[in-house]
Amino acid sequence: MTTRTLHVRNPRTGELDYQIQAAGPEEISATAQRLRAAQRGWTALPLAERGAALLRLADALVKFRTEITAALEIDTGRRRIAGLELDGAVASLRGWVAQAPTLLPEGWTQGRAMPHIRHAPQFVPYALTGVISPWNFPLTLSMIDTIPALLAGSAVIIKPSEVTPRFAAPMMAAIAEAGLEDILTFVQGDGATGAALIEAVDVICFTGSVATGRKVAAAAATKMIPAFLELGGKDPLIVTASADLEKATDAALRGSVLSTGQACQSIERIYVAAEIHDAFLKRLTEKAAAVRLNWPDISQGELGPIIFDKQAAILTAQIEDAKANGAAVLTGGTVENHGGGCWLLPTVLTNVSHQMKVMTEETFGPLLPVMPFATIDEALALANDTEYGLSAAVFAGTLEEAEAVAAGIEAGAVSLNDAALTGIFYEAEKHSFKLSGLGGSRMGPAGFQRFLRRKALIANTGAPAPLSAFAEDAS
Ligand code: NAD
Repeated sequence: MTTRTLHVRNPRTGELDYQIQAAGPEEISATAQRLRAAQRGWTALPLAERGAALLRLADALVKFRTEITAALEIDTGRRRIAGLELDGAVASLRGWVAQAPTLLPEGWTQGRAMPHIRHAPQFVPYALTGVISPWNFPLTLSMIDTIPALLAGSAVIIKPSEVTPRFAAPMMAAIAEAGLEDILTFVQGDGATGAALIEAVDVICFTGSVATGRKVAAAAATKMIPAFLELGGKDPLIVTASADLEKATDAALRGSVLSTGQACQSIERIYVAAEIHDAFLKRLTEKAAAVRLNWPDISQGELGPIIFDKQAAILTAQIEDAKANGAAVLTGGTVENHGGGCWLLPTVLTNVSHQMKVMTEETFGPLLPVMPFATIDEALALANDTEYGLSAAVFAGTLEEAEAVAAGIEAGAVSLNDAALTGIFYEAEKHSFKLSGLGGSRMGPAGFQRFLRRKALIANTGAPAPLSAFAEDAS
């Protein structure tokens, strides 16, 4: 077996206090073979029985809640969100099980052009699904595609990020408790392991950066398997002149800095109508200045550490680039080292422009650059001046006004009179526009349906047409 030892950094202490054995192609191939064998029985079960098994998994996650969230807490350096990730997975299991039976059409449909021919759908799952996840929400983003794939009848191998791998061991204990270890498992490793996983599966679900997403897409294309890619974002928030300042600044702050901004759907650019710009900036700055780190006490404060230390250098580079080009820092602004971890307080920036990296490149941190606009057309042009199209937000005095502005935004989801709602609300189908992704919606009914290939049964209730009906001289 070709395994390599990878050392894992603790985001609160900076210490390499954990290690994983990165699976090589042979181990992945053996795992894939084992799961493929078990998948034949899994897919033969009625949907209701697969659902019952997934409810057992939900119960097992609850039983192992302490162990899983403790590991996730070390992986991410945050406590409350670790609990929310676990609770979210349990709710997602129960929600999909309840919903799945209503999501597929059944029965025969009479043909329109040829009424004597009718058709009925059958649904054939991909036998083995690969899931590759990033470090920012390790549990949520490992399970978000896994749950509907399992329910559809697929077996699943998850490769979590090598930056946050600790939660996988207690997850495996819960999976074994539910008796599902032959159809759902984790493999540990880095990019090489991820690349090997793509070779072993029939469909790949990838959440991560655009740069890696391109490699995954190319590998999937060569293998001719579907790739569902959920990539980076540069989400804008537009605040119109009629917006309620208290509510809009609450949404802007939470949407930008929750999870230390380490969320694909974080608000990364804020455009405010010139009429209210100064008042908005003042109130946002006051609120941003009141945010606390969850250091030294993990049970206090709102902001955890920067999980991946390399991200700290990206944030510093964006802040320095903005300052060098004339931006002013109103709060935060410096990556702080506490106890070996990297931390950054909410950093409100003004005098920013699209000549700065902070307005064009993905930030993935608690930066809030604020820019005034004169007209809605200008706001839309600025919001759409990006190679990303993950999501966006509009805050206005009324929902109707917000909806009208949202119509002009090139992104797969727009939060109205709030921000970053796709981080907490998964029921609406959405695509990722532009470089932000490829493939079907992971949310809403399509999130389940995309794991099932359509197989059509087409039945002739009349007599088959003879060849002579197609003769050149047929009348
Ligand atoms: P990343 O692309 O560096 O890594 C993601 C995963 O891919 C990791 O598990 C990594 O080991 C694996 N990987 C690396 N090289 C690979 C290869 N050649 N083949 C297969 N797998 C490979 O991303 P990251 O830094 O872990 O995560 C941050 C990024 O994820 C940000 O860009 C963020 O916007 C994005 N993200 C997107 C969403 C979404 O839903 N759109 C959600 C969360 C994060």
